[in-house]
Amino acid sequence: MTDRATLAWRVAAGVVDPELADLTIADLGILRGTDERDGTVVVTVTPTFSGCPAMTEMRRDLLRRLGDAGLGPVEIRTTLSPPWTSDWITAEGRAKLAAAGISPPARSSERAPTPASEPVPVTLVATSRRVACPRCGSGDTAELSHFGATACRSLYRCRACREPFEHMREI
Ligand SMILES: [Zn+2]
Repeated sequence: MTDRATLAWRVAAGVVDPELADLTIADLGILRGTDERDGTVVVTVTPTFSGCPAMTEMRRDLLRRLGDAGLGPVEIRTTLSPPWTSDWITAEGRAKLAAAGISPPARSSERAPTPASEPVPVTLVATSRRVACPRCGSGDTAELSHFGATACRSLYRCRACREPFEHMREI
């Protein structure tokens, strides 16, 4: 990476998603890369689900911050392949979600296995993964509503501490 591309990453990584506990686009895995081509700083992003509409705002913030840092001209490229998955949220991002009382999405390795082509032993696999309470850590939780404050979150209630909380859904 060129110096400008490296600086662009650092600046771009400061853009936050106001709807998601101020996770940065780096925390969320939206920021895919920065590069410099023919004097133009190229920032590549992969948007999350369309249900989280903060992307337009983050894009504007991205252009403003990069411009303020003297990194213009800037081009923002959107790539949809491979598609974004909640697995791309970093450990720091998951910690921020939990600190904000939002239970982070489980990594695919922690989720119930998808039907494989090979024979699967006849064990009962829970159809829905257990969502842990971000306050007390109890797994004794129930989904109250599939849609929380934003389309990417569900509303849960913990039976142990009786507090409601939000869970960012896996994708
Ligand atoms: Zn609890």
